[in-house]
Order: sequence, then structure tokens, then C-alpha cells
Amino acid sequence: HEPLNRIDPAIWDVIQREARRQEAHIELIASENHAHPAVMAAVGSVLTNKYAEGYPGRRYYGGCAVVDEAENLAIERLKTLFGAEAANVQPHAGSQANQAVFFAMLNPGDTILGMRLDEGGHLTHGMPLNISGKWFNVVSYGLNEQEEIDYDEMERVARETRPKLIIAGASAYALRIDFERFARVAKEVGAWFMVDMAHYAGLIAGGGYPNPVPHADFVTTTTHKGLRGPRGGAILMKAEHERAINSAIFPGIQGGPLMHVIAGKAVAFGLALEPAFRVYQQQILDNARAMADTLIRRGLRIVSGRTESHLMLVDLRGQGLTGQEAERLLEDVGLTCNKNTVPRDPQKATVSSGIRLGTPAITTRGFGVEDAVRVAHAIADRLAAPADTQVRERVRAEVEALCRRFPVYG
Ligand code: PLP
Repeated sequence: HEPLNRIDPAIWDVIQREARRQEAHIELIASENHAHPAVMAAVGSVLTNKYAEGYPGRRYYGGCAVVDEAENLAIERLKTLFGAEAANVQPHAGSQANQAVFFAMLNPGDTILGMRLDEGGHLTHGMPLNISGKWFNVVSYGLNEQEEIDYDEMERVARETRPKLIIAGASAYALRIDFERFARVAKEVGAWFMVDMAHYAGLIAGGGYPNPVPHADFVTTTTHKGLRGPRGGAILMKAEHERAINSAIFPGIQGGPLMHVIAGKAVAFGLALEPAFRVYQQQILDNARAMADTLIRRGLRIVSGRTESHLMLVDLRGQGLTGQEAERLLEDVGLTCNKNTVPRDPQKATVSSGIRLGTPAITTRGFGVEDAVRVAHAIADRLAAPADTQVRERVRAEVEALCRRFPVYG
């Protein structure tokens, strides 16, 4: 067969340039990672050709015996990794994992309680333009004065509104979440309890963050963040919910599962079960703490004052910079991150007053604490002197040197 570069030079070129971009930039987006090459091999395999509507042993297509093995491996490994009773590995992404829980357990008009988007929640937890916000009556909780989850507010709102579903989990919250307390409240008010652990899944698998599985009816996740798997989603649940959730995914909201992606998930879960994964996750935590401490020492404000996870939010109001400006200044020197609202942000979300930084990707390429500290100084230097071209060139050179020292894919 003709190779891709001859069949489609334009797309070949895109892939080459994106590979170079990833090698030459330091990736600080908290939701991104560099997937393991073995994961990418599975995703790029012939399994992409196979239709397999249904579940292992119960398919609506012939010829599924082989891919059934891949799905069973993914399910078993995922259950072992988190100590779950049942698992569904078919969600195409994190959003579909959440939708499946909604579709299985709720009716339009029901009340759901989630974390406010502008204080750290995710758009699938009730944002007005998302299906969760359009179909359900959304009530929410946020952060208290210390910028920690306001558990008292969550309890009060839960008691007042008696939601059918309570959601814990966030996209921009740096601290540990008290899943036990959420579970107690859910039980008290008669709500189902769902944890969206997308951001924390890798840390949880590595033992570095509380495991919500013993406490929640449903735990949803993405597989492409800290878990280093392919882009995708998964659902863990109590055995009693397996039938309802499986039916909500197929035929409820999806058709044929992506068997090549499911094989990639199985590879990632297998790698996450190895002892080295715990070391990797601990390094992610160490790197994040070192970055946050350094940024604080350099005069930057970290939301909540610290991190207990892989991410941190930097509030740039003291620097007179918007998140949008900071994202551009850093991109310009090879540091990739995303602008993010901070609690009670005066700016709209497209501008925002903060940036979100995460350490999974840099840790994957081998950065240790010293390197994370260097990155934090590079950020602080650049943001302290936006117009200084000498600083810009020096930081750029430092970023280049770090990238050369730690190739992503060799
Ligand atoms: N849930 C949380 C907490 C997330 O942070 C994300 C993605 O950023 C998602 C769900 C959605 O995942 P996906 O983008 O795969 O739909």
C-alpha cells in the first residue's frame, strides 16, 4: 500500500507539524497528556474496521469474537484498577459517559446538583448551553471564602432542592474532594451520587487522590488525561446499575463502539496496573506542588493557596494581566496552557483572569521536580516582563533546552 505521505501529503504534513509542535512545546494543559506509543498502536490498528453494537458475547454483528476479548480485557482491567463492581468502556468521550448516567437515571425537568462552571465545574454538569443545562433543572454549589468546595452550601442546597442526582468532580479544582461527605448528603436527600473523576482518574489509579468508587453510584471518567490512554470515556458503577447504564450507552445514546479505542483503553489500563504507574502519578503530584510553591514564592496567587492534585489555577489580577494575555505570552515562548476563569472573575470566560496549569504531560516526558521549578520560574519571568524581548529570548531558549533534553517520543 502507498504510505500516507503519498496518499494524502496535506494530512501527513499536519501530523508531522503537530508532532514537532508537541516535541518543541512544554505542555501544561491540565487535561492533556502524551499517550503511550502502545496505546497509539492499538488505536491505529485494524480494530477500527469492526462493527460491534452490543456487548461482549451479545453483539448485533457477526465476527465479534476477537474484539470481544479486547473489550473484556478493558472492562476487567478497569474494574481492578479502581476496585469497581462493574464497568462500561464504550463511551466515546467523557461527555457521553456523563450523558449516559443522565439518560439512564433522570427525566427531563429533574433537578441535578453540580459544581458551578465558573468556580471549577465542567460544562456537562449543568452549563445552560449543554444538554445537562437544557434538559434539567440545575442547582449548584461553588467555593467558600477559602476557595475550597463549600460543602455547607452543597448540603444546604441539596436539602432545600432535593435533587435527583448530585455530581461531584471538576475541571479546575486543585484540592482533594471529600467524596464521603457528598455520598452522605446524597443518601440523606435520596439522590443518586455521581462522581466525574475525569481530571483525577490517573492520580486515583496511582493512589495519590481519594478513590470515589466506594462512595458513588456512578463514577465517570475520560481516559486521555492522567490515565494516558486514548481519547475516550468510561463508566464505573455498582453492579445493580450495570444493565441500566449499558442500555443507556447502547442503544440509548451511541451506536457501534470504537473497538480500536477500546483496545487502546485496555492497553492504558494495563499499564496503569503496573507498579511504575504509581511512581509516575506521585511524580505528577510532586511536580505540581513544586510548581505551585515556586509560583507563590515569585509573587503569583494560586487559587485555594495550594494544590493537592496535578493542577493549579493562577490568578493574574495582581499582575494586571488577563488569562487571555498570559496564555498568549506563554505560547509565544513555547509554554502551552489555557486561560481559565478564577472564582468571582470580573472578566468573561473568553478573556478570564487566570490560567490553569497541570503537570501530567511534562511528567510523562520525564520532568522531575527541578525541571518543574524551572518551568515555574520561566512562567514567572515571562509574565513579569511581557515587553522585555531579552527575557522572552532567554525563556524561549530555556524551554527549547528542556524540550531537547526530554523528547516526548524519542
Ligand atoms: N468531565 C470533566 C470533569 C472534564 O474535565 C472533561 C473534559 O475536559 C469532561 C468531562 C469531558 O470530556 P470529553 O472532552 O472527553 O467529552
